[in-house]
Amino acid sequence: MITCTRCGKKNEDNSQTCRQCGHKLQSGFARFNGSSLSSKKNRDSFNISFENSDIYAKHGEAWIYALFLLAAVVFFTYQQVYWPLYILTPLVAILAWVRKI
Ligand SMILES: [Zn+2]
Repeated sequence: MITCTRCGKKNEDNSQTCRQCGHKLQSGFARFNGSSLSSKKNRDSFNISFENSDIYAKHGEAWIYALFLLAAVVFFTYQQVYWPLYILTPLVAILAWVRKI
């Protein structure tokens, strides 16, 4: 959409002159602004959908960490080896914190 600089009437992108007053339109500049605006809009909607899927991914990741930790606790307790748990537990906690879960 090109807005006429003289009368403010909105014209089609490919218009050379204003439909209302016949003023010559600066199509190049106006078209550039319009396309950059629409691409920003596309990027915003992309970000929203990306964030949504990110939340689900994080949710799954948190479960993986929790199950991994649980499996490790069960395994090492069964083996009666406790020292890896002292390393593993804070390690998973730090990993989860770094990943902002
Ligand atoms: Zn005009």
